[in-house]
Amino acid sequence: MNPYLITPSIIASDFTRLGEELAACESAGADWIHVDVMDGHFVPTITVGPLFVEACRRATKLPLDAHLMVTNPDQQLEVFAKAGADRLTVHVETCPNLTQTIERIKSLGCKAGVTLNPSTPASALDAVLPLVDLVLVMSVNPGYSGQKFMPEMIGKVAEIRNKLNALRSQAFLQVDGGMAIDTLPLMHSAGANVFVVGNFAFKHPLGVGEAVRLLRGCVPA
Ligand code: ZN
Repeated sequence: MNPYLITPSIIASDFTRLGEELAACESAGADWIHVDVMDGHFVPTITVGPLFVEACRRATKLPLDAHLMVTNPDQQLEVFAKAGADRLTVHVETCPNLTQTIERIKSLGCKAGVTLNPSTPASALDAVLPLVDLVLVMSVNPGYSGQKFMPEMIGKVAEIRNKLNALRSQAFLQVDGGMAIDTLPLMHSAGANVFVVGNFAFKHPLGVGEAVRLLRGCVPA
């Protein structure tokens, strides 16, 4: 078992070669495939939906980790579960009854994650921390790929790590946004153990395999 997980964000890949990109992630030893779903409403950009998740499902055996940046995720949970997502992560800002949403995700046979925008305080998650399988901290404002890492989010990761430890929770603590070999170690030492990587993985001149190898080696043992 790797000490921390690497989850390439497939929307940063070359969609004309989706099957090859997923195969490259698999042979690079990526742990999950992260799918950034954006609806053009909760966030300004539109990316991909359930048909894309279904295509990924046919092309890889790796767990599919869908991050739903959408208004009304409750209406979309079933279709993403049926498309083959293994993990569904919803934004606290979009769920009027977050506990119910988490229970629904679990009843669909998926692992339930929760996330929050950079401007939302960690305390917004307090009520659901005991229920979730994963907490995702956004280290950029959601909506675009390739944004700059926000160092202010290191403290938020540390705060949530303390809360999870106090609950003796085994939930993953994931970070999404601006992850590379200089930023990953900062979030790792704050307590994160799952890292979404976009451009660093897919735009690396030596390919995704070398990128994942560098990310695995960037935290001193
Ligand atoms: Zn994401």
